[in-house]
Amino acid sequence: AHSYPLKCLLVKLVMAGDSSVGKTSILRRYVDDPDPSFIATIGIDFKIKTVTIDETMLKLQIWDTAGQERFHTLSVSYFRGAQGFVLVYDITNSDSFKNIEYWMKDILKREGEDVEIVLLGNKCDKEDARIVSKEKGEKLAWEYGIPFFETSAKTNINIDQAFSTLVETIYSKK
Ligand code: GDP
Ligand code: MG
Repeated sequence: AHSYPLKCLLVKLVMAGDSSVGKTSILRRYVDDPDPSFIATIGIDFKIKTVTIDETMLKLQIWDTAGQERFHTLSVSYFRGAQGFVLVYDITNSDSFKNIEYWMKDILKREGEDVEIVLLGNKCDKEDARIVSKEKGEKLAWEYGIPFFETSAKTNINIDQAFSTLVETIYSKK
């Protein structure tokens, strides 16, 4: 007999991190859909991916910027109501790693909202150009008490694992 999901949950996830670290590439890799939906009023892109855990269908609405992070003009509504954040730096760019601290402040300053965060050190295929060691990433994530993965959107390393970890944690706390 077929089994059907009993419940359906809508989950808002948000891509965060400096410009050019690979947020949009990571999202495209995770959701095989080249055309994002666009909410013109607030200037953001989002993608939908549906995953099933146990008998619950989770409809992931994953928000991505249309580049506003470059100008530090992300609107409040971008973060509002998010249950999970995919926080990304680029292992070949030390500024993007230093700025994780500021992104964390922005994420955590919203009182009363329970959020899960996963930290990604992206572009791990570019070992020759590496500036941020894996140990530094692990240590920072450990200090924040959040999971950490080195990823490559280019060669598809750890992308599914990172999202699964985030989504399963959110699900387990529902
Ligand atoms: P965003 O500004 O954070 O959304 O970054 P993008 O996804 O637009 O990527 C910025 C640039 O980095 C593009 O040229 C991508 O092709 C490149 N890029 C993204 N992820 C990776 C990766 O994992 N490895 C490599 N080598 N390049 C990447
Ligand atoms: Mg982008």
